[in-house]
Amino acid sequence: HRLCSTSPPFLSKTSASRSASTLVVAEHEGGSIKAQSLSAVVAATSLGDDNSVSLLLAGYGSSLLQAAERAATCHPSISQVLVADSEKFANPLAEPWAKLVQLVQQKGGYSHVIATSGSFGKNILPRAAALLDVSPVTDVVEVNGPTQFVRPIYAGNALCTVRYTGANPCMLTVRSTSFPVPPLAADSKSNGAPISHVDLSTLDEDSIGKSRYIKLSSEDTERPDLGSARIVVTGGRGLKSAENFKMLEKLAEKLGAAVGATRAAVDAGFVPNELQVGQTGKIVAPDLYMAFGVSGAIQHLAGMKDSKFIVAVNKDADAPIFQVADYGLVADLFEVIPELLEKFPEK
Ligand code: FAD
Repeated sequence: HRLCSTSPPFLSKTSASRSASTLVVAEHEGGSIKAQSLSAVVAATSLGDDNSVSLLLAGYGSSLLQAAERAATCHPSISQVLVADSEKFANPLAEPWAKLVQLVQQKGGYSHVIATSGSFGKNILPRAAALLDVSPVTDVVEVNGPTQFVRPIYAGNALCTVRYTGANPCMLTVRSTSFPVPPLAADSKSNGAPISHVDLSTLDEDSIGKSRYIKLSSEDTERPDLGSARIVVTGGRGLKSAENFKMLEKLAEKLGAAVGATRAAVDAGFVPNELQVGQTGKIVAPDLYMAFGVSGAIQHLAGMKDSKFIVAVNKDADAPIFQVADYGLVADLFEVIPELLEKFPEK
């Protein structure tokens, strides 16, 4: 379904301009810009023909500067890289970041501000929008010009076309899975956008806000990141225990895949919350999604139904997962997974 929301007649003129200038709020890790943030650059290119894209990177120290240098040459659409280097940005706390976006926006007067809708963007962009007194448009899956966007509603069961009629800037979070980054031809690589440092002298001392960074705990794994993996192997409540999830981990290792889980599996304590796929978890769209012991609840489908090939194994022939599966096997996963482990060669 596609719903149309037209703006009220008294708001028919929008202030977001046709020639866009966009600020992309980007994430970096280990001295490189994250692949998801490049999707926000791809989304920005659909905002207008003569759109100039500035990339904002914040952090502290040498890995930030390395990321800025790499970012400057990673996409021809990036016309400048803005660097905010301060101890305040050493950890990803939303408050100082939101203040930074406000500061940079007020100096640069951008028509659009974009971040991807991962936990980073979802945390920062709405706060920055509140500081700038505008309403963000979230979870955008299609950009049709500077003011018209498509976003899912009702847990992804309908798509809604919205027109932004508010003041500048128009602030968007975009789904990285909807804006894949095409491999760049060698001759279209950027020669290097200029890098400038943001003057942080006017940033309030109290911009740290009320939150305090305690620690980052993350699974130290060789497997690919769930959000950008080409293959995802997901387990549901049907796996029955944390111990049984180890079978899936082994399968993921053999396939070079990321492991995902349903909320029921997370709530039962089989796996940590960061593996949850779905409406309230991660949104994924890999080339191959394999679901074992997953019923296919609407909230789970919302996070994976755009995968290119879906394979489901469930012992209940009526499980709703089979309605979205390209290949379905009605079978006991405790027989199927060991068989797959035996048949797939060691990596
Ligand atoms: P179940 O529904 O219990 O299904 C288990 C399946 O395993 C069954 O189909 C069963 O036939 C099969 N099975 C059992 N044993 C075997 C076996 N031996 N071999 C083969 N198959 C077997 N869920 C998410 O996943 N992600 C979300 O982000 C999410 N967000 C939510 C947000 C809200 C507001 C709400 C209300 C719910 C949300 N949920 C989410 C929960 C969702 O509604 C379902 O409860 C959940 O997805 C079910 O997980 P499941 O498929 O693992 O478990």
